[in-house]
Amino acid sequence: MKNFLTHLECTNCSKIWSADELHSICPACGKVLFARYDLDQARAHFSQTTLRQRAGGMWRWFEIMPVRDEKNVITLGEGNTPLIPVPQLGKPFGASKLYVKEEGLNPTGSFKARGLSAAVSKAKELGVTSIGMPSAGNAGAALAAYGARAGLDIFIFMPQDTPEMMKREGAVYGAHVFLVKGLINDAGKIVKEQAAQRGWFDVSTLKEPYRAEGKKTLGLELAEQLDWTLPDAIIYPAGGGTGVVGMWKAFDELEQLGWIGNQRPKMIIVQAEGCAPLIKAYRAGVRHAELWQDAHTLAPGIRVPVAFADYLILDAVRNSGGTAVSVSDTAIVQAMNTIARTEGIFAAPEGAATFAAYQQLIHTGFLKPEERVVLFNTGSGLKTPELVTGNFPVLDPRDPNLSAKI
Ligand SMILES: *Cc1c(COP(=O)(O)O)cnc(C)c1O
Ligand SMILES: [Zn+2]
Repeated sequence: MKNFLTHLECTNCSKIWSADELHSICPACGKVLFARYDLDQARAHFSQTTLRQRAGGMWRWFEIMPVRDEKNVITLGEGNTPLIPVPQLGKPFGASKLYVKEEGLNPTGSFKARGLSAAVSKAKELGVTSIGMPSAGNAGAALAAYGARAGLDIFIFMPQDTPEMMKREGAVYGAHVFLVKGLINDAGKIVKEQAAQRGWFDVSTLKEPYRAEGKKTLGLELAEQLDWTLPDAIIYPAGGGTGVVGMWKAFDELEQLGWIGNQRPKMIIVQAEGCAPLIKAYRAGVRHAELWQDAHTLAPGIRVPVAFADYLILDAVRNSGGTAVSVSDTAIVQAMNTIARTEGIFAAPEGAATFAAYQQLIHTGFLKPEERVVLFNTGSGLKTPELVTGNFPVLDPRDPNLSAKI
């Protein structure tokens, strides 16, 4: 397979950097770097037919992925997740074109697998031997798994109250896991300092160019699954925002390949009421979000008080005619139950938040029931079992009144 990666380009100052040297943020202005491809060449050498004939997950898109040599791809079968129609979930709203992109089926149970498969593969290709990263949980688990497979030394820093499962996943894959008194941004400060001293490569969200390339495949797959069209709206639970940034980039690249037209979905982001810096910035009409004080929500992946790529997320939301909403933790838990009971999907709280947002937006009339809408269930609810009911009657087979208890 040919690869058409050409260079890195700064999303802020447009300066060009080499994609064959290790880069994190833009050396000139400190903002987010994007991987760029020769899409004219890709258009000539990569077709929908070729793609269709390939088995496998997100690396089927190798031509427009950031690894130059196939041998360097570190994969666990991530991607190719189903786009599930959820008619029963939509029924109370008269919605018949509602879908869930089921990312809980990825290795390590969340869509973080996509970003970290890409980032770890590229880091390995560029000679990295140790990686540090702050994480709210799922990213750490994914980094640990791909890091193990790549034979790298992995250092993960999570808030102390991260769900138990995610801490232990990091540990079972052999990563060094540290718990931090504070939130993901506090963990990020430790990583920044220590990485500089110890020579780790820092793969914090959008502080290196390649996790977003893995998340880009969310958008590529969606277009393929909808037969080279895009939905009317996408609802995405935004923390650091890689998915929004990645998908938005994917749509542009697909258009340049000539595979889709210029129609774009409304990009809708959802955050929790207790941590909604991007929603606040959206409402204020600004491009940069302020640090959210005392962030709290039971959805760990979106408990992110500050997003480094805020300007890219907010640009995508605005340029697409989307919107930004917050939902309560109560609505999130209710949505987890509703999705599970109506459709058999045990969504992560972050994924469930997209359905809570959908209900709100149908109610306000921003979304119409006839619109084709994709909810991103970004992870599996199996990781946070404590969020759902766990009260079960206990039966004693010798109890003469057993029948009355059922
Ligand atoms: C990390 C995470 C998110 C937020 O993703 P970003 O790309 O950081 O916006 C949402 N849901 C789950 C389950 C996550 O793990
Ligand atoms: Zn720059």
